[in-house]
Amino acid sequence: MTELRIEGLSKRFGTYLALDDVSITIPNGKFVCLLGPSGCGKTTLLRLIAGLETPSEGRILVGGTDLSAVPSHKRGMGMVFQSLALFPHLDVAENIAYPLAIRGTDRATRQATAARLLDLVKLPGMGGRRIHQLSGGQRQRVAIARGLAIDPKVFLLDEPLSALDAGLREHMQIELRQIQQSLGVTTVVVTHDQKEALTMADLVIVMKDGKVQQAGTPMEIYHAPANAFVADFIGNTNLMPCRWDGQAIEVLGHRLAPAEGDRIAAAPGLAQLSVRPEHVEIAAPGTGFAAEITFIRDLGESVHFVTRCGAQVITAQVAPGARPPFGVGDAVSLSFRPGKRVVLA
Ligand code: ATP
Repeated sequence: MTELRIEGLSKRFGTYLALDDVSITIPNGKFVCLLGPSGCGKTTLLRLIAGLETPSEGRILVGGTDLSAVPSHKRGMGMVFQSLALFPHLDVAENIAYPLAIRGTDRATRQATAARLLDLVKLPGMGGRRIHQLSGGQRQRVAIARGLAIDPKVFLLDEPLSALDAGLREHMQIELRQIQQSLGVTTVVVTHDQKEALTMADLVIVMKDGKVQQAGTPMEIYHAPANAFVADFIGNTNLMPCRWDGQAIEVLGHRLAPAEGDRIAAAPGLAQLSVRPEHVEIAAPGTGFAAEITFIRDLGESVHFVTRCGAQVITAQVAPGARPPFGVGDAVSLSFRPGKRVVLA
């Protein structure tokens, strides 16, 4: 049982609070993404779990055991760093088996482990190559294999795919997830890429300014964001200042009565209305929000109509087959699909 529990964890660098009272429970075998903008404390949290930093407050427990007094190399954690940190003077198999070598594991076991992991990361027979003879994607696989060499209780990866181009990156996201599922190892990945988090994770932990904003499944985070920051950070959304008076949502001069499925996650008063572009309907001028089309973005799988409604920019997304016959400069009427509107603090 390798549940990872983080309790009241804070980290100060001098007077700067990089991590502020973080508590999370990561169930055994889950794949978790720490997601947030640059500087929000993701790497700091990962390094604290790994034992590469000391907490200012709080504790970390793996399988119920407090790690406070356990040094990094005895925590049973596999790590993949953003830089990969592969050794050019060692061949691929020696790189993979390096964590075993420094633990004094015998040569035959090291070779067998390297061969098994090379198969797992789809590089069979490449153990004799040097690092400079590998492509970027192959190096990534070697780093992942090395992180798994000690059969870790917890697998930690810091922006592991950030150096790869978009196509290879998407491919590796799926492979990494499949490897993790085949091993069932509790895994924590740092990323600032929301699509990557939604693709791979069982649980996404959204962070900002050293604090957890929301922890939930990708669908919970997407459909039921806890606040305006999460709504804006995950996927695209239209955020509009509004007023919730306890009965209706006042927005852009209209009063909208909440419908079944709409989420009100703010106290009465000033708030933000979040409506995903796919839930904005666009029609000929009528009774909805009067707007003007300012830009049309044709992305093949979807069409985005960027509109202006007074000072507010609102984007509507439609499927190419449902594309309405409007062009830039046309006056239109927008409506927000009932049941898909979210009022946030
Ligand atoms: P990125 O995506 O850019 O890597 P991050 O979310 O991983 O960002 P961290 O690296 O955890 O962010 O840093 C969080 C904050 O703590 C930043 O403001 C950073 O400057 C600061 N910080 C991190 N390490 C140290 C350190 N050793 N000394 C002082 N400040 C630090």
